[in-house]
Amino acid sequence: MIHFVGAGCGAPDLITLRGKKMIEEADVIIYAGSLVNPELLSWKKESCEVHNSAKMTLEEVFSVMQQAEAEGKTTVRLHTGDPSIYGAIREQMDLLDQAGFSYDVCPGVSSMNGAAATLRMEYTLPDVAQSVVVTRMAGRTPVPERESVRSFAAHKTTMVLFLSAGLLDKAAEELIAGGYDPKTPAAIVYKASWPDERSYICTIDTMADCARENQVTKTALIIVGDAVSQSNYRRSDLYNPNFATEFRPAKE
Ligand code: SAH
Repeated sequence: MIHFVGAGCGAPDLITLRGKKMIEEADVIIYAGSLVNPELLSWKKESCEVHNSAKMTLEEVFSVMQQAEAEGKTTVRLHTGDPSIYGAIREQMDLLDQAGFSYDVCPGVSSMNGAAATLRMEYTLPDVAQSVVVTRMAGRTPVPERESVRSFAAHKTTMVLFLSAGLLDKAAEELIAGGYDPKTPAAIVYKASWPDERSYICTIDTMADCARENQVTKTALIIVGDAVSQSNYRRSDLYNPNFATEFRPAKE
């Protein structure tokens, strides 16, 4: 059995109870050493075999899983944040399907959730933004043209940019060309929930300089949109006394 487990975005106690139990019971752990907090490995059994996937290819990862399956062992494949976001898990699951191995997925706290918590921010504010665009700049991995940051910018909603901290001059250019006002607020969150977490509030036209001045080049999320200022929103209907819901009548 293979469990894909979301490790959470940094702080070890942001893993789920289920994920922790899976680590405790694993015979083999393959963890993404570039971003997974190694403290999570302190819960493993003494006999547990550990591999750092940062130094491995897909084929090597699969071969470790294959060996473990042959020996009837339980494997945990530990991914940073939530495995469904830029986790490269489909290609692994396809190989497991072909081999007829059983697996499941345990979700994790994505860095997009961790960063919102750092900023004490609600991404979806009534009247300001009711959608979140989760995307990235094209880097060595291309992004389909129809999903360009420039095209999403037309919506001027909250946008969360992964994997783009080193491309902020270009990102700002694209965001502005696509429709955001250059003075739209932006946030840079470096290593959300880690002990050395840092965050900065700037604007789209200053975010590249802000990252440079603070030496942020990786392991950061960029959040842009009017919601970053957390102001000028309308209060919710759900908790408005004049609004009846399925669970509560409206107050006179
Ligand atoms: N599956 C992960 C994302 C993996 S892609 C998740 O759900 O968070 C790796 C990118 O995620 C990094 O380049 C960075 O943009 C972002 N990232 C991961 N951990 C982060 C953290 N603690 N703080 C800020 N950004 C982080």
